[in-house]
Parts: sequence; C-alpha cells; structure tokens
Amino acid sequence: MTSISIKEIDKRLDNCFKTLNLNGMNESFQSNETEFSNKDFKQSLLSILELEVEYKSGKKVERLLKASRLPLIKNIETFDLTRLPLKLRRKTDVLIDGAFIDRCENVLAFGKPGSGKTHLLCAIAQEQIHKGRSVYYASCNLLVQELLMAKRQFELPKALKKLSKYELLILDDIGYVQQNREEIEVLFTLLAERYERGSVMITSNLPFSKWEQIFKDPMTTAAAIDRLVHHCVILDLNLPSYRTLKAKEKLAHI
Ligand code: ADP
Ligand code: MG
Repeated sequence: MTSISIKEIDKRLDNCFKTLNLNGMNESFQSNETEFSNKDFKQSLLSILELEVEYKSGKKVERLLKASRLPLIKNIETFDLTRLPLKLRRKTDVLIDGAFIDRCENVLAFGKPGSGKTHLLCAIAQEQIHKGRSVYYASCNLLVQELLMAKRQFELPKALKKLSKYELLILDDIGYVQQNREEIEVLFTLLAERYERGSVMITSNLPFSKWEQIFKDPMTTAAAIDRLVHHCVILDLNLPSYRTLKAKEKLAHI
C-alpha cells in the first residue's frame, strides 16, 4: 500500500466508514481534518478497517450459503464448463455476472436427466452469494409440500413472504412429480407472487410443450409459462448425460 495517494486513501476510508456504518467516526473524521490528516495514520486506519470489511463480508457469505440450502459441492469449480457449447458458455458467463437478478429475470434450464441442469444453476447461484445476494434452493416438489402444509395451517401468506425475502429462488425439477390440484394451486400462487418481483431459476426435464402434464389444464399452463418467460433466459442443456459419459469413460479403462 506504499504508493497509494492520499486521495485514494480518503476514498477507501469513506467506503469503509459507510460499509461498516461508522457514521460518528465518519463525521468527526470530516470535521477534524487537521488532527487526522497525517497520511501514515490514515493508512494504518484504512488497513485495519479494510480487514474488518473483509471479515464481515466473509461472515455474510457464510450465513447466506447456509441459509440457501444449496448443495455446496455443485459449484463453478467442480463444473466442467468446457462441456457446454460456446453459446451456452457465453450465457453462463452473463448469468454469473448477476445483472439478471437486478432485472428480476428468470432462468429456465431444460434437458434430459443427468445433463447438468441442477449443477449449472446451483453453481451460478453460489456465485451470486459470493456477491452478497440471497438465494434459496429447493426441490420443487418438497417446496410445494411445505407450502401446502403452510396453507392448511392458514399460513401460506407468511410462508410466501419468507420466500419473497430471497433475491433468487431455485425450483429444482419442476414437474418431476405429478401433483394434485391443491399442489398445482400453491405452485401457481408461488410463481404469480414472484412475477416481476424476484428471479426464479427452474430446472425441468419436460419441454414447455409437455408442461400441461404439470399444470393440468391449458389455461393454467399458458398463464404459468407466460409469467415465467416474460423476462427470462433459457438454457437448453440437451447434452448427453454426464453420469453416463463418466461411467463409459470408466468402463473404457477396464
Ligand atoms: P440434472 O439436474 O440435469 O439431472 P445434474 O446437474 O444433477 O443433472 O448432474 C448429474 C451429475 O453429473 C451430478 O453429479 C453433476 O455434478 C454431474 N455433472 C453434470 N454436468 C457436469 C459438468 N459439466 N461438470 C461436472 N459435473 C457435471
Ligand atoms: Mg437435477
């Protein structure tokens, strides 16, 4: 930090004061310019405060990761991006950047079982947590069951409100389990609640043309698809199963 200018120090100190909510310190620092204007002093103070900022953001990421219920092993380091066609890799880079969350855009990943949908979406989501954003991962079926229980206890609005606090919601494997009318209703309510208010990431083995199997009647199906695709990025992972590929590689070595 030796060659850092006093202007740069002041800027970074100001950042630290704001990030750490040190309002009183910030004020007295501004008003007692002469007392605190020594460059060495400012530089030492900056080093300590930046350590605290780093510590706090590390703790925040830890908290967010735990609350997300994401399978942590499915991250970007363990994902082989070279398996994706170039177009998909580019889309992945853009998604990792995270602006889709600011725009409340959805991400829909389609593909056969084992094609890497869950892993890819979880990896993108974990990267968002490292940027300080809140994420909640759930198997679609389990979440629907939880919401249904809440509904039966007249607590559906409370449960939906809790979910609305997350900036990104992942519904893994929509349509994997056949659902009854009540279950479809809560799933639809959840999607309607989040529409244009927060991003949803969805994985599905079923293409849109088969979503009537999920929502049963054509009207509800059209309404659900309409809301999801209004602002969305589609990832078509029509790749051979990664599991099958790995198993074949193993067999080839025997
Ligand atoms: P899907 O959700 O499409 O059924 P998964 O994401 O669960 O598939 O992937 C199946 C298995 O293969 C998981 O263990 C996952 O970690 C692994 N896998 C899939 N694609 C990749 C990849 N590109 N790089 C590393 N592992 C992968
Ligand atoms: Mg999956």
